[in-house]
Amino acid sequence: MNPGKILLVEDDQLSRMIMTRKLKNAGFEVVVAEHGEKGLEIAYSEEPDIILSDWMMPRLDGPQLCQAIKSDSKLRYIFFILLSARGNTTDRVDGLSTGADEYLAKPCPDEELIARLQAGMRLVNLQKELLRLQAELAEKNRILEQLATTDPLTTLYNRRHFMDVLDGELSRAARYQRQLSFVICDIDNFKKINDTYGHQVGDQVLIQTAALLQKSIRSTDVVARYGGEEFVIVLPEHTLQGALVVAERIRASIERTLMLLPDASPPISVTMSFGVAEWHPAIHSTADHLIREADDALYTAKRTGKNRVCTAMTAGCENAA
Ligand code: GH3
Ligand code: MG
Ligand code: MG
Ligand code: MG
Repeated sequence: MNPGKILLVEDDQLSRMIMTRKLKNAGFEVVVAEHGEKGLEIAYSEEPDIILSDWMMPRLDGPQLCQAIKSDSKLRYIFFILLSARGNTTDRVDGLSTGADEYLAKPCPDEELIARLQAGMRLVNLQKELLRLQAELAEKNRILEQLATTDPLTTLYNRRHFMDVLDGELSRAARYQRQLSFVICDIDNFKKINDTYGHQVGDQVLIQTAALLQKSIRSTDVVARYGGEEFVIVLPEHTLQGALVVAERIRASIERTLMLLPDASPPISVTMSFGVAEWHPAIHSTADHLIREADDALYTAKRTGKNRVCTAMTAGCENAA
């Protein structure tokens, strides 16, 4: 168990020497400062567990040093003991009111001093353990939050989180009367890739497709993995025409991308089909309604030959070929 590091702040050289010896004999690590200003500087560099400070000192006195320590977010966990020859009740109350954790009147019997320091160390260690647990909990929460919102394979948002995002975007668009479009896309003949090259290669294709989609959109757009080989993109501030341009650009880019695969598999390319819908609050009462319209358009794209971008107006279906 760490016996503790003590910063002794004392302007009287003889007292400093005697005290240092006592503390070292009791097993503490000791650093010293001859006045409050130096004490503050050393508190930063040495990060002591406890500061044992004289009251009256030149530059910064004990109460001033205590205030400086206790108002600093990095130093305020240091256990602060004010040591003074001024021992009446008012002095003790004044000393503690500066934020000191303990007040000891000089002369303080050695056994009491050591016992108080050990009690201080118990609190310091408890506090350190609490801070460690708090950090551990925050990290676990961060990981949980990530697990709850992310698809582990592609690291894109998962479907559940995307639905929350979409709801939020629809509310925002409604409130500010902004445009919004929605894209759903699906890898063509993906089953064949799994059947031909194996599931692992299929996974690689999904990962690389996801990365390409992510790379193709602006930071205000949101892409997610909606299902197996199906992805969705919400495009705030996009009309149908704008969204068609984006979808077509992504379609063409997927088509010409050669995906490099592990295990000496030959590079392969895939194509995707797209369904696009623009949100109209008067028509689409819910997010599901908007998704259904885009999904119908995707179905049209599949039915009419795949590798293309379609909207609800089948006649508007743009053939890539
Ligand atoms: P279409 O062009 O009509 O979309 O045909 P398709 O073969 O792409 O679609 P289908 O729905 O027939 O097959 C999708 C396949 O995707 C079936 C399923 O096993 C596979 N799949 C779903 N999730 C994953 C995954 O995480 N990894 C891999 N490797 N395959 C997956
Ligand atoms: Mg003094
Ligand atoms: Mg498919
Ligand atoms: Mg599918």
